[in-house]
Amino acid sequence: MKLYPIFADLRGRTVLVVGGGGVAERKAMALLEAHARVRVVAPVLNDGLAALAEAGRIAVHRGGFEEGQAQDAWLIIAATADRALNARIAELGERRRVFVNVVDDAELSQFHVPAVIDRGPVTVAISSGGAAPMVSRLLRERLESWLDHSWGPLAALLGHMRGAIAARYREPGARRRFYERLLRGPLLDRLRAGRDAEAAQCVRDAMASKQPAAAGVVVLVGAGPGDPGLLTLHGLRALNEADVILHDRLVSEEVLALARRDAERVAVGKEAGNHHATQEAIHALMLRYAREGKHVVRLKGGDPFVFGRGGEELEFLRAHGIAYRVVPGITAALACAAYAGVPLTHREHASTVRLVTAHGQVSGGSPDWQAWARERETLAVYMGVSELGQLQARLIEHGRAGHTPFALVENGSRMGQRVVTGRLDQLDTLAHAHAVRSPALAIIGEVAALAGSLAWFGAPPLGTDEASLCPPAPVISLAAQA
Ligand code: SAH
Repeated sequence: MKLYPIFADLRGRTVLVVGGGGVAERKAMALLEAHARVRVVAPVLNDGLAALAEAGRIAVHRGGFEEGQAQDAWLIIAATADRALNARIAELGERRRVFVNVVDDAELSQFHVPAVIDRGPVTVAISSGGAAPMVSRLLRERLESWLDHSWGPLAALLGHMRGAIAARYREPGARRRFYERLLRGPLLDRLRAGRDAEAAQCVRDAMASKQPAAAGVVVLVGAGPGDPGLLTLHGLRALNEADVILHDRLVSEEVLALARRDAERVAVGKEAGNHHATQEAIHALMLRYAREGKHVVRLKGGDPFVFGRGGEELEFLRAHGIAYRVVPGITAALACAAYAGVPLTHREHASTVRLVTAHGQVSGGSPDWQAWARERETLAVYMGVSELGQLQARLIEHGRAGHTPFALVENGSRMGQRVVTGRLDQLDTLAHAHAVRSPALAIIGEVAALAGSLAWFGAPPLGTDEASLCPPAPVISLAAQA
């Protein structure tokens, strides 16, 4: 470790900032937040610093830097563009044993100022040892989104109750187990929702119960269409807190890889031809794990409430008195449209989108074909690829023009995404010619034509031209297209 990290208590202590520009101003502001007594030395001050001086928040020496000004300083920050002056200040620090930071100069600095995430009273500081401040900044951005705002209140609450907890659990092991159990419960959720009083009650309840039975919960999480970047932060959090993950086969490996390592993963889902039995088996599994007090994540492709049987699962959980939550996901229609460059609505082409499923509908069910076939509307069809022929025939039969554009998106948002475009009357033929496989989503309507010009992800759309009619090996045909 090149640098030794410390958190300094600067309340009421003098810090000298040399420089009068924007950088000095930023440093002064950060120091003021830590309640330091800030003294600025510079011949000229920018507007921000002048305003701070005016308001009496900083002391100012107008003029050049002199050694005497550093007399009572605990720290010095050199924020001037004059390297010789910065070096002189650093040398003074060395001699007088006052720590000096020279902004953006790791070489001259005796201490570095880290990138910071502030979740008061929790502070996370990141340093790259001066090697690559940009990396620290990028890392901070990542962590910012992960460390939600419940961590501050959590630390404040546990800080407040720390004495009582230590008295109740004298043995360190017991104390650690208590904290782990506490954090797995609803505490963080309560804090996130701003229900501080209930959160405090969670802690008291946990302390009151001798052998508190962990209450099981099922979180229905939408995993999105495959690209792990499309998972929500709540979804990611749920995956990190899970004991068991019951996931659909449609959920991508990349998303599963984000889950807690020691969470048990169980692939569940529709075996062809046996929907009912599988759904019952899923219900039974959720119930069993939840009753064991587990934190269960039921992870579904796309959004759990869009053709995902999420409603049925919640009804079941409710009927059995199991607590549940729902985290929405990006549904295939939205993701496929975005990743194929097809705006689902467009002022000139469509102001209505219909999300429909052709599963079992086309052959057995009786959809409102008249409505599905309306012009200047967008139809997003979740389906089995085998239903395309029927779909095409019925839409045309009910008045949709044969020349209506479509975009058929296979593996939307994933590495192997393919988009096949054409006219409605060629839908089935082109799907066969390109050997489109599940999962695939058909977008039918005037907007689909935009895929040709707005595509941005993966290989360009495949159409009717000879070159794009490749043998049924998606990866090879993609390479041939590129
Ligand atoms: N709940 C899911 C849909 C489940 S139904 C959601 O909201 O997206 C399954 C159908 O969704 C598939 O047959 C396919 O039509 C569509 N689908 C799901 N993921 C897809 C993907 N990555 N690319 C294309 N279609 C997808």
